[in-house]
Amino acid sequence: MTPWSVDAMRRCAAEVLAQLTEHIEVSRRGEGPVVRLRPAPELIEELDLERWLRQGGMDAGTLAAFLQRYLDGTTRLHHPHYLAHQVAVPHFASALADLVSGATNNGMSIFEMGPSPASVEIAVVDWMLGLVGWAPTGRGPSGVPAGRRAGGGVLTHGGNLANLTALLAARAACAPEAWAQGVGDELVLLAPATAHYATARAASILGLGARALRALPTDELDRLRPEGVADAIDHERSAGRRVMAVVANACATATGLYDPLDEVGAVCNEREVWFHVDGAHGASALTSVRERGLLAGVERADSLVWDAHKMLQTSTLCAAVLMRDGRRLRDAFELDANYVVDPGQTVGVDVIGHQVECTKGAIGFKLFLTLAFEGEQGMGQHLETLVDRARRFAELIAARPGFLVPCTPESNIVLFGLEDRGVDASALRLALLQRGDYYVTKADVSGRTWLRLTVMNPGSDEQVIAGLLGEIERLVAAGLPTTESGPSADE
Ligand SMILES: *Cc1c(COP(=O)(O)O)cnc(C)c1O
Repeated sequence: MTPWSVDAMRRCAAEVLAQLTEHIEVSRRGEGPVVRLRPAPELIEELDLERWLRQGGMDAGTLAAFLQRYLDGTTRLHHPHYLAHQVAVPHFASALADLVSGATNNGMSIFEMGPSPASVEIAVVDWMLGLVGWAPTGRGPSGVPAGRRAGGGVLTHGGNLANLTALLAARAACAPEAWAQGVGDELVLLAPATAHYATARAASILGLGARALRALPTDELDRLRPEGVADAIDHERSAGRRVMAVVANACATATGLYDPLDEVGAVCNEREVWFHVDGAHGASALTSVRERGLLAGVERADSLVWDAHKMLQTSTLCAAVLMRDGRRLRDAFELDANYVVDPGQTVGVDVIGHQVECTKGAIGFKLFLTLAFEGEQGMGQHLETLVDRARRFAELIAARPGFLVPCTPESNIVLFGLEDRGVDASALRLALLQRGDYYVTKADVSGRTWLRLTVMNPGSDEQVIAGLLGEIERLVAAGLPTTESGPSADE
């Protein structure tokens, strides 16, 4: 058995590149459906997956034929009618970084396994910490400014893992005995009901149990009401419980609205309660001078989650968990991996002790390379474009007879519905999805199911929205089934 040849790699890569660039061009022109939902058994047969995986033997020619059909069954994020999930339309630089990382495979959790990617992670994390207003990790060339405490941060495979890591650090701060002893039933976690399910999941995974999650009061648009936070903390404490953390959204997944971080943060700081901000979607507004005010007060947080694969044009996955005080991240994990961590080494820090993952991909490179092409300013402008679109689309929808918009967008997420409450938004979404012409999601907010647009694509313009509304009007006029089904808006 001879190993695969670099020549084969060259020929196959050329095929892949030719097809991908064509795929993106066609998608950008809006040709064909944005999504084609077909049953898995049908696709498995059509792509001949079972034969390929048993027999092998693919070469550049058969790869080309296979890839064409494979791409046909992918959801086209580059299509201007892609208005669904909070997943970036990726920059080509990020895709190329994926290729470089795939080919070099530097599992960089220990520095020696990938000095370049490990250094990139430090630089990227320090860049993010700087935008939050926190001190750098001190692992980069500039060190930590005198009189300040080093910040902390690590990249993870997604926001869910990042939230778990942040709340693990909160648990270590509140109940340091928990790592060895497990948790008692006096630990509670306070969050608005609009918090992403990552928070509830973390409560269960961390051993608090779902019962420990207490809903903080919210307003009519499901935003956290800051006045209620102090009372909620005091109430738990007077009942003998320990408040592990208060969680706020920046922004909420369903609505795209930001919780009042400054006010909530002030209460938490005063009462010395861990303040966690889930900015998986919305922390990217920190790259825009115009929009960063939405996160005013974020520097009061103890931890912040920030996904690059949502609003920073990075391919999945690249998330960051950042901490104001770097020691908190170190304390989150008991260092039990001494077979790979050499405390005596001086060249670089092994991130393995600060993350859930053991081996980790060079995920920071995707964000780095995208920034290297677009720059911080370009990144901020991209976000502003998407937010401007969302606000304009909300105006257009609100002005259309028969349509309703419950709130002015703060981010790139637009909720809307029909005045006629008899129209089932879930059935409407499903009908759109099955036709494949427009890809949107739905969300339950203030007791009603709304249709939901996430504007990720600068190619989605006013004409696209006019077309979508026209299609909805036609579907409603033709009569919809009244089923409640289909995937929800939870990213
Ligand atoms: C998307 C999102 C998450 C989950 O992040 P993944 O990267 O999809 O794991 C968590 N919280 C919020 C607020 C989100 O928008």
